[in-house]
Amino acid sequence: MVADNAENTANEQMDILKSTQTIIRTALEKLGYPDEVFDLMKEPVRMMTVRIPVRMDDGSIKIFTGYRAQHNDAVGPTKGGVRFHPNVSEKEVKALSIWMSLKAGIVDLPYGGGKGGILCDPREMSFRELEGLSRGYVRAISQIVGPTKDIPAPDVFTNSQIMAWMMDEYSRIDEFNNPGFITGKPIVLGGSHGRESATANGVTMCIEEAAKKRNINLKGARIVIQGFGNAGSFLSKFLHDKGAKIIGISDAYGALHDPEGLDIDYLLDRRDSFGTVTNLFENTITNKELLELDCDILVPAAIENQITEENAHNIKASILVEAANGPTTLGATKILTDRGILLVPDVLASAGGVTVSYFEWVQNNQGYYWSEEEVEEKLHKVMVKAFDNVYQTAETRRIDMRLSAYMVGVRKMAEASRFRGWI
Ligand code: NAD
Repeated sequence: MVADNAENTANEQMDILKSTQTIIRTALEKLGYPDEVFDLMKEPVRMMTVRIPVRMDDGSIKIFTGYRAQHNDAVGPTKGGVRFHPNVSEKEVKALSIWMSLKAGIVDLPYGGGKGGILCDPREMSFRELEGLSRGYVRAISQIVGPTKDIPAPDVFTNSQIMAWMMDEYSRIDEFNNPGFITGKPIVLGGSHGRESATANGVTMCIEEAAKKRNINLKGARIVIQGFGNAGSFLSKFLHDKGAKIIGISDAYGALHDPEGLDIDYLLDRRDSFGTVTNLFENTITNKELLELDCDILVPAAIENQITEENAHNIKASILVEAANGPTTLGATKILTDRGILLVPDVLASAGGVTVSYFEWVQNNQGYYWSEEEVEEKLHKVMVKAFDNVYQTAETRRIDMRLSAYMVGVRKMAEASRFRGWI
């Protein structure tokens, strides 16, 4: 059973890398680049595997495996989160580093993409063990990271406390207080206002722009959100506050539906720190049923591969905005596009997080800090410009927004690589 699961996970992750490479190849062909550009872009330029010894609470030593991938540093330093998860694999980290390059290109940041991961289950580790692992990871990768080389950030199961330990360890190695080494830090250590809710904020801005294109008034619009974790919960709050009717939400255990609109403030109050709330209710529906509900806007904000060729024909929303990474397969993207559904892809919709991480790095470099309003205003400008760029490219070239986002995302990186004389 365990072996089957591991195999399935590996296959899915292989698909993520493969499907990413497939769209990048198409995007580069459409932009008129020769094959060697694809050869450079299809894998990270640098991939480090590390083994991290940690003394556990019972006195034993456990060796953890970690990765850091740097996809392309032609534009500037690489940047991307570190995830702590039992299913982390080299292939997954590689694919995610490519997605970070695309996001940086789409929102026009002076970065390439990076990503890191450690195979572990933080839910079963003590605070002391997690601190040892976080510091050990930084010592292991210290030679290839830094504020002008590669800047880590939080991702699945890592948070501002873990960023603080990592920043402290790097500062000790560097013999210099170096907050710009990592983003997603607590505010007192140089974190930025608005970082925690940045992804959901960026998704909300994309939803507003997409709704305008489809003449849907957000006030009263019926919205379904899959996932009630960091992304899904902030998102439901922002959309609810704008007058939208959140008629469905879900977590890993089931989904809630009320055609008149759910009581979002109550659900936010009752959710636990893992984004679980449906276990408190009896009349639940399944996640599969949730995705097929009659609504105006559907937002997958949980995990990968949720909308596939099997259920794409049954989606009733007229707009689908991907807050999660990789929730829609390529086959499903084609079906939805053919059906006239406007699909706003993950690499655009969820780029608010890396954008505010960039703001944090800029503030650290300047030593001058911005108010929450300034962050919000700057994020809004970036997201609306990126949305317009991707939407216009899709309209002009008569392609879907995923391919258009990839075209916008790879262009700067390809140009920078060419100017540097790499290709
Ligand atoms: P999270 O762990 O805080 O929450 C995940 C939510 O999804 C929880 O409510 C969980 O119960 C639910 N879930 C888990 N397995 C599920 C399943 N099989 N079916 C239905 N629901 C399930 O995670 P998050 O930070 O909110 O991230 C959600 C998605 O958004 C991920 O794809 C992540 O990569 C993406 N994303 C998040 C951020 C961010 O800043 N948080 C940034 C970019 C992308």
